[in-house]
Amino acid sequence: MTDLFSDDHARALDDADALRAFRHEFLIPRHDGVEQAYFCGNSLGLQPKGARAHVEEVLRKWSEEAVEAHFTAPGAWMPYHELVRDPLAAVVGAQPSEVVAMNSLTANLHLLMVSFYQPTVERTAILIEAGAFPSDRYAVESQLKYRGLPPEHTLIEVQPDNADGTFSMAAIENAIREHGKRLALVLWPGVQYRTGQAFDLKEIARITHEVGAIAGFDLAHAVGNLPLQLHDSGADFAVWCHYKYMNSGPGAVAGCFVHERHARTDRPRFAGWWGHEQSTRFRMGPDFVPTPGADGWQLSNPPILGLAPLRASLDLFSRAGMDALRARSKRLTGYLEALIHARLADTLQIVTPAAPAQRGCQLSLRVAGGRARGRTLFEHLGAQGIIGDWREPDVIRISPAPLYNTHADVLRFARAVDRWQAGA
Ligand SMILES: *Cc1c(COP(=O)(O)O)cnc(C)c1O
Repeated sequence: MTDLFSDDHARALDDADALRAFRHEFLIPRHDGVEQAYFCGNSLGLQPKGARAHVEEVLRKWSEEAVEAHFTAPGAWMPYHELVRDPLAAVVGAQPSEVVAMNSLTANLHLLMVSFYQPTVERTAILIEAGAFPSDRYAVESQLKYRGLPPEHTLIEVQPDNADGTFSMAAIENAIREHGKRLALVLWPGVQYRTGQAFDLKEIARITHEVGAIAGFDLAHAVGNLPLQLHDSGADFAVWCHYKYMNSGPGAVAGCFVHERHARTDRPRFAGWWGHEQSTRFRMGPDFVPTPGADGWQLSNPPILGLAPLRASLDLFSRAGMDALRARSKRLTGYLEALIHARLADTLQIVTPAAPAQRGCQLSLRVAGGRARGRTLFEHLGAQGIIGDWREPDVIRISPAPLYNTHADVLRFARAVDRWQAGA
């Protein structure tokens, strides 16, 4: 029988992997001179080596060309956001005109709710998952208040029906149908940040539309993690950030999606000059004429320095391809799961669903014995350069990212836990 815990086994799995070379495209932080086993791409992805050149190109153009750099190739700033459009559309399964890189995730969520949360006399409610990422909940609650609606009556939070805090599709469907007539908007995550559960977005959009509401998705933990088919999902809008699995740097410029059927919508929106129809933007007229598609929600001329690393990141995604990355991701996370089942089950309980279709790369691991024991283990791992992240009260999230993590990284984590539980 193969020894899952042997170096040879992990090495053989890595050697057989067609995508293994992508790790060398990243700068991996070191710990005591050795590369970390970095499993925190769910929080801040690592720096692609190519990012620096793109940032330096912007700095160089600024120093040598200044205002002219808006128009000088290569990398002219005026159409700079268009450089990321096609590869970004490919990552999220959208048509190019349906996506735009702009602002931050929470800002985009607000902008799109201004357009797509339109309460009527009958429909005032927004439905989200209980335990949503705080920023999303704050955004939703503040939109309700902004419309003069009391969140106690208009914010519907669906409780997870499984003991581990995950949702069955039936629970989601029942909640949407139960409140259907009052729902204006369903805002659901692609992957839930705490549990790592992935959802069938197409099905959620279908049910939401059946009851007559708008379907919006927060894909912060899904983009760059799972292949998405946003256009085919039928979602009305989606938002996400680029500093997690998209590896575009701290506070990176975020993304959003507006389905083609809303490309020329006359819904209200908060407008800015960069959303104005391109051919006439610089006539500087007083009346706002939105450019069709997602671009029409832009407010400002984009932060070029902030967009530059996204180019390097998208280059890697284009070369690797989301489907191949997902296949590798399933192998890495499956290996992590197998190691836990083989020897670590007394210490680590996997919260994330076991079915690959219901998860991305992340496993959320509840440490047996409660918070204090969990913290001790977490700190013990960190002290060896094994970097996950901690979610109160007792969960360690480990996210093997298929662009840069290896089976050897995963083995290093499992061995460290194994040694710790033997000594603890
Ligand atoms: C990471 C994350 C955010 C962060 O919001 P920012 O506006 O990028 O700071 C918001 N929502 C979810 C679900 C997240 O995972």
